[in-house]
Amino acid sequence: MAKRQFKTESRRILDLMINSVYTHKEIFLRELISNASDAIDKLYFRSLTDDSVPLTKDDYRIEITLDKDARALKITDNGCGMDEDALNENLGVIAHSGTAEFGETLRERGESLPAEENQAGDTPGVRLVGQFGVGFYSAFMVSKKVTVLSRAFGTEQAYLWESAGVEGYSVRAAEKASHGTEITLYIKDDADGERYGEFLEPYRVSGLIKKYSDYIRYPIVLDGETKNSMIPLWRKNRSELSADDYNGFYKGKFGDYEDPAFTIHYSTEGAVSYTALLFAPSQAPYNYYTRDYEKGLQLYANGVLIMDKCADLLPDHFSFIRGLADSPDLSLNISREMLQHDRQLKAMAKSVEKKIRAELERMLENEREKYEAFYKAFGLQMKYGLYSGFGTNADTLKDLVLFHSLAEDRPVTFKEYVEKMPEGQEHIYYVCAETPAKALLLPQTERLREKGRDILCLTEDVDEFALKMLREYDGKEFRSVSGGDVGLTDEEKEAQKTRSEENKDLLAFIGEALGEKVSGVTVSARLGRHAVCLTSEGELSIEMEKVLNQMPAEHKVKARRVLELNAGHAVFAALRSLFVTDRDRLRVYANLLYSQALLIEGLPVDDPVAFSEDICSLMKA
Ligand code: ADP
Repeated sequence: MAKRQFKTESRRILDLMINSVYTHKEIFLRELISNASDAIDKLYFRSLTDDSVPLTKDDYRIEITLDKDARALKITDNGCGMDEDALNENLGVIAHSGTAEFGETLRERGESLPAEENQAGDTPGVRLVGQFGVGFYSAFMVSKKVTVLSRAFGTEQAYLWESAGVEGYSVRAAEKASHGTEITLYIKDDADGERYGEFLEPYRVSGLIKKYSDYIRYPIVLDGETKNSMIPLWRKNRSELSADDYNGFYKGKFGDYEDPAFTIHYSTEGAVSYTALLFAPSQAPYNYYTRDYEKGLQLYANGVLIMDKCADLLPDHFSFIRGLADSPDLSLNISREMLQHDRQLKAMAKSVEKKIRAELERMLENEREKYEAFYKAFGLQMKYGLYSGFGTNADTLKDLVLFHSLAEDRPVTFKEYVEKMPEGQEHIYYVCAETPAKALLLPQTERLREKGRDILCLTEDVDEFALKMLREYDGKEFRSVSGGDVGLTDEEKEAQKTRSEENKDLLAFIGEALGEKVSGVTVSARLGRHAVCLTSEGELSIEMEKVLNQMPAEHKVKARRVLELNAGHAVFAALRSLFVTDRDRLRVYANLLYSQALLIEGLPVDDPVAFSEDICSLMKA
């Protein structure tokens, strides 16, 4: 029988498991029991609709046996089992779908998996593993060898999977009397202060079942005794539950390594009665911002799982929430299509959204630091929500989003921005830039900052689109520092008008020299020390042009650009004199200024070679 190799990344993770950087090795039992319970769930759910499964709920159980002499801990379930392919597929690759990305993420961060025990238990590598779920492989934290004897329901042939770690694994045909899976862990010898032997002690194992797996819906039997209460955690009274209970449940059920950022547990009665238990992860799962991510809550009808990811229960802007809803009003045989139109479900979705929003508001109000950390992971999703809902989600989301304030150098809400607006300021200003530090360098922000105006820095592609959708907050319109009117006083407007008048012919000449490149050339009211900048007219900003043109589309869009010149700058005086003495040279200057403005915006110059030649011609002079 050929020895099979684990996939490369799997080997590395396995290595991590074996050399165990986890301080909580005991969680292996929770992981394996949870797998056993899932396997039973699969079969149980089939038995509800398929008469060929002749079992009832009482027939299912998870059995644990301990054999001190053989140093063996065995977990047996009578769930769906695995055939040969499933064994290879599920246990030959770690964290299947996530494996490749996992390696990728590690490489990107320049991290290698730590080989040594870490007391804090939270080296970056471990945190990463957590994002991918460790599941079955955690068995290797405590075992020198693991065997999995399994027979898929409805088949006669059983198979035995066997592995002693990174060396690889084997699968061969074997005998097994009934369907289900039997996992045997050959527990490591005690060494270096680690007492692995305790996992062979009934009192210890029984304690672990109580601690981590009490809510499992099937009996977990040890020495002929059922050790778990089988009451789902969410059906217990909140007053009986501790943060540890919730966190342990979350980590076990949703395969996360970190505690959730927050937990919401409530029951409601009314149009529809249900209990919900919701969690927000502390970090975005590795695939969160990809198409692979599937949102949804588990849906239970009176304690029985009827759908694993009910997408309709969660709005897209809160798709990061994990958890479940359990209602006695739902029928067991409800089909997916029926669910989609179900009025009860809609009512539930509405109240779920309200609860999440209220919790986020509470966290923002009372636990600012925690909220900001949470926002780093999921704020982007909420901003997408502002945009994609065409304003319909505005009321839900507008007080939850944060943008970096240039004046305060920290993220602020719109409310906080507006509260600090000085007398006479009518708009909420924003600037698009890669980072706040770069925003401070942009000429367009100069005058406004001198006037004591705060500016919100938009760093993400979706940001400006989201603000455009929102239009205003508390009656204050959003204004780009690079867009038309930035709120000049009447005096300032008058002064600008006069200067434009005085230089009318010069500006017209430069406009002609630049031709189609710009839709206008003006004397600027927003520049301080800088000579030139580019702004836009109309709805489409230069930043939006950049974002839209990155997307695959036949027609590229173009913002209407305005070249703004600083009439107080020495360069402007030079332009004025060239207008009288040397118009050919003025044309060169006009093109150079335009190219500089493009560069400041982070845009490529139209013709880099001509740009370079123009500069050389000036250097020679
Ligand atoms: P996860 O449970 O997060 O998917 P695991 O590594 O724990 O990851 O398990 C991988 C897969 O192996 C499971 O998704 C399941 O399909 C299968 N599996 C694990 N344990 C069992 C079991 N006791 N019975 C049937 N299938 C199992």
